[in-house]
Amino acid sequence: MFDVAIIGAGVVGCAVARRFALLGAKVVLMESGADILSGASKANSAILHTGFDAPSNSVEWQLIQAGRAEYLAIHEKLNLPLIQTGALVCAWSEEEASKLEQIHAAGLHNGVTDLARLSAAQARTLQPGLSSRLCAALAVPGEAIIDPWSAPLAYVTQAIKLGATVMRNSEVLRGEFAGNTWSLQTGTQTVEARALINCAGLYGDEVDRRLGLPVAFQIKPRKGQFVVLDKAAARHVRSIILPVPTETTKGVVVCPTVFGNVLIGPTAEEQDARQRATVEQDTLAGLIRRGAEILPALQGMPVTAVYAGLRPATEQKAYRIFSRPAQRAITLGGIRSTGLSAALGLAQHAVTLYQQFESEPFSPPVDIPWFAMPNLAEGYERDWQRPNHGEMVCHCELVTKREIALSMTSPLPPGDFGGLRRRTRAGMGRCQGFYCNATLAAMTQGKLAVDLAVTAKGEQ
Ligand SMILES: Cc1cc2nc3c(=O)[nH]c(=O)nc-3n(C[C@H](O)[C@H](O)[C@H](O)COP(=O)(O)OP(=O)(O)OC[C@H]3O[C@@H](n4cnc5c(N)ncnc54)[C@H](O)[C@@H]3O)c2cc1C
Repeated sequence: MFDVAIIGAGVVGCAVARRFALLGAKVVLMESGADILSGASKANSAILHTGFDAPSNSVEWQLIQAGRAEYLAIHEKLNLPLIQTGALVCAWSEEEASKLEQIHAAGLHNGVTDLARLSAAQARTLQPGLSSRLCAALAVPGEAIIDPWSAPLAYVTQAIKLGATVMRNSEVLRGEFAGNTWSLQTGTQTVEARALINCAGLYGDEVDRRLGLPVAFQIKPRKGQFVVLDKAAARHVRSIILPVPTETTKGVVVCPTVFGNVLIGPTAEEQDARQRATVEQDTLAGLIRRGAEILPALQGMPVTAVYAGLRPATEQKAYRIFSRPAQRAITLGGIRSTGLSAALGLAQHAVTLYQQFESEPFSPPVDIPWFAMPNLAEGYERDWQRPNHGEMVCHCELVTKREIALSMTSPLPPGDFGGLRRRTRAGMGRCQGFYCNATLAAMTQGKLAVDLAVTAKGEQ
């Protein structure tokens, strides 16, 4: 019998599992995919937001701030990267420039006090090369970029080291609450727990339905397509370059990544399907054009990869968080565009909600395990720079065979090839695995739920 069952191992579920494990709870994290991060969390912009533009006084704003504060407090202890790039909200017309004052005031109201209004010339000192069409900008020095995959992996690894159970390939099909215990059915197993937390992202409403809970929101997936530019582009991009947002989207961003690439995206496109996030040639060409309009030096830069992610948006802008004390259940739903930043805050919030229906405290562990995650960011020491690193497997991203082997024997080895790529960067570089896939397939044969040889293209 578990104290808490968490459904869904996206960034939110991983953070919630960690928080409850740190309290001393007996935790199970159930994930339908072959690996963690099988949903929205596998494809985002990797920005650690300050919350300057979050709806004022909203739960989302509070949880972004709490989540960011905790990430800043723990990232060094877990060897997780943080690159303090800052952001510039760029106004490309006088009409947009007139909105900066309001965005500035809202940011100050949100407690982000280091914002600064800049002329176009001042903005160019922070981000050289911005197009001559720039009218004005707002500097947001606190915005940063992180590794969107090693952070949740670190959260869940810490939970595992504290005794949590992670069940992958375990889709929750049904659930029944009998008095004070949940009985959750997967295709092959029954899991019992005294409380549950629905963190099912794009399936949050569907999971509430399966559990017989009131379905208080509807997921309306919103696709975001991205172009990843080659590392040659990185020398032109120092800052996160944001547009003036609209009612529905933060808009297309030009953004460095911790891995030394440049992202252009995401789009915001409503779609019905919750799984297939396709990319379209015309849209990608539009993103590339937009990037070069913002920063002319990006014109003609080679493209390394393209991808799309799905936001678990709903009919409302706000997070859809529900606590059902009578059923000892919490739903953390509709974590749309800021979940990477807010995840640790959402986990704290889940504990607060839980304590409203369970007053008996757990026994917290005496020793909290802290450990160094493999840090794959550019500028941090990588395995190939260490003595006796042995053979390289991926020459684009400089991944050693030793790193692959280490990943395969880690507390949570990859469950599929996408998971291996996210943990090591193998196959993520210029050749996109053309040269290393055969070696990787041989090294991982029989060890992944889905062998590399049969991994469908575009599902990584
Ligand atoms: C294009 C884009 C850009 C973004 N940029 C940023 C950004 O820069 N910064 C930021 O902070 N946030 C960003 N986000 C938002 C962030 O990625 C999401 O808020 C976050 O990933 C949501 O995480 P989640 O854990 O709620 O959902 P998910 O990641 O979808 O996790 C839910 C998990 O539940 C599993 N699941 C579903 N049903 C079941 C079931 N029945 N049984 C078991 N498991 C189940 C799924 O397989 C999945 O792994 C962006 C999102 C997108 C799409």
